[in-house]
Amino acid sequence: MQYRAYDTDSEKIKAVSMTQLSKTVIKENLLDRAEMSDAHCHLELFKNPLDTIAKAREEGIGIIITSGGTVDGNTGAIEMTNYDGVFATIGIDPSAIEDADSIDDIEMQIKANPKIIGIGEIGLDAKYTDKYGLELQKDIFREQIKIAEALEIPVVVHARSMMKHVIEIIEEFPKVRFMMHFFDGALEEAQKLAGMGHLISIPPRLSSNRKKIIKHLDIRNIVVETDSPVAGHSPLDVKETLEVIAKMKDISFYDVASMVTGNLKRFFYI
Ligand SMILES: [Zn+2]
Repeated sequence: MQYRAYDTDSEKIKAVSMTQLSKTVIKENLLDRAEMSDAHCHLELFKNPLDTIAKAREEGIGIIITSGGTVDGNTGAIEMTNYDGVFATIGIDPSAIEDADSIDDIEMQIKANPKIIGIGEIGLDAKYTDKYGLELQKDIFREQIKIAEALEIPVVVHARSMMKHVIEIIEEFPKVRFMMHFFDGALEEAQKLAGMGHLISIPPRLSSNRKKIIKHLDIRNIVVETDSPVAGHSPLDVKETLEVIAKMKDISFYDVASMVTGNLKRFFYI
């Protein structure tokens, strides 16, 4: 029989035999505590979400936050909260402004389900400014932040080529905490947001700009996400990002996984 244990030399989870396991028992205990997490994905978009969740858990990803963004996406995300370790955020994203009528329902849906832990993904997207106009996007973004403020829950932000405008709106709501999903801003913007207590979520595609952010930003403001299946393949992709963070910050994989998941738990009160 094979067991799974964390090998501190290779910093990887390995299949080991019973004899090897007795030698790695301390390492295995470490694995129990070094829980990994995916701060943002879309489980309902997978062909077989249950299979995706099971595989992620098997590999040590104990917390998955799945985000809605449209009426259908929100329904799917809420359904996923039936599974252990899966939490949801719901909202209307800038691609689905025509779904904005459902914003009133969002507040009730959140109140009815303790595993809906935030509003999102919501925000501004340069791709849709021609279609909807920037002012309408801003109004709908603000309307939903106000719900988060009233319910005292965080916001998961979608900001594509819109960091300047998004930061301006964030500054209007000093009491609300924001997680910047798929962060595409500059290091200075990341540091400014971190200084206000917000989280910077690092996706799997590590551009040189994101590596710079990882290097210079305090680890307490960093979480990792996959945005799978839209950007990453599955929640397992967080491992690669955690490995890069470990290398760049010269911290062990175990410590990075543990700290990053701790950041996520504290932020969302999970
Ligand atoms: Zn997303």
